[in-house]
Amino acid sequence: EKLDQGLEKSKSNFFNKLGKAVAGKSKVDDDVLDDLEEVLISSDVGVSTTIKIIRRIEDRVAKDKYLGTEELNVILREEIAALLSETEEAEKNNQPELGHPYVIMVVGVNGVGKTTTIGKLAYQFKKQGKKVVLGAADTFRAAAIEQLEIWSQRVDVPIVKQKMGSDPASVAFDTLQSAVKLNADVVLIDTAGRLHNKINLMNELTKVKRVMQKVVPNAPHEVLLVLDGSTGQNAFEQAKQFSAATEVTSLAITKLDGTAKGGVVIGISDQLQVPVKYIGVGEGIEDLQDFNKIEFVDSFFN
Ligand code: GDP
Repeated sequence: EKLDQGLEKSKSNFFNKLGKAVAGKSKVDDDVLDDLEEVLISSDVGVSTTIKIIRRIEDRVAKDKYLGTEELNVILREEIAALLSETEEAEKNNQPELGHPYVIMVVGVNGVGKTTTIGKLAYQFKKQGKKVVLGAADTFRAAAIEQLEIWSQRVDVPIVKQKMGSDPASVAFDTLQSAVKLNADVVLIDTAGRLHNKINLMNELTKVKRVMQKVVPNAPHEVLLVLDGSTGQNAFEQAKQFSAATEVTSLAITKLDGTAKGGVVIGISDQLQVPVKYIGVGEGIEDLQDFNKIEFVDSFFN
């Protein structure tokens, strides 16, 4: 229900436009397909993914010779679900066999909701009875360290930090050492997301990883990229740039409440081939949900 509310704007946007595109038509013809293309693009699905969806529907029209507009909904759902990828069950639960402590390196540009997502995740893990440690490796901004500290107090989990300007890799190293000592289950490492210098970003993330591996051999077990869903095509660009700088293994897409751009989830998931693990649907501590593609698609169409 929260998901439905969260996606209210995306849903009414998409569903209403789709309804208009097929109004008064009984079969899917070129006009309907043109309108559908516009609906997808204006819902921020992205051009390449839109073209892919339209082609698939054209193929089905060609194969069956006739496609009723009522069936279009069903087919569109299937095609969209096929393009979305969600996280495997094992990884969803951060099972101990994947790593103990299970280390999540969180990356993303400032302002996308990175700190909030880390706080919400820490809260969820703690509620599951897991021991969590936070690492403030975004040492570039004093505010980033302070914000993370506020979350650590709010959720009541330990944080490892150094002063602003210190080496992020050193903070990450300290964090993992503390986590091992505390026998922690999950470690969330915040990192700086300065995209204006791609080589620096790449070097920094590579170094953070390398240094963490001195403490926990397979760390990080997950590189979670946080993207602001309300920025539409900007989120796309960031996703591409971060994937070029480091191997991103999962996505959190925030601020899907209050935006009509929820379609961006479809395009990013398809283009990046990285599973969407979480979606942010509000500013509150409980407003982070596991991404489930069937629920997501349903919330768009129902
Ligand atoms: P950071 O700079 O990436 O760490 O961003 P913050 O975590 O500080 O978040 C920036 C702003 O976005 C804050 O005002 C958050 O409350 C807000 N925010 C984060 N996630 C969500 C979300 O899912 N929905 C909404 N509406 N706001 C969010």
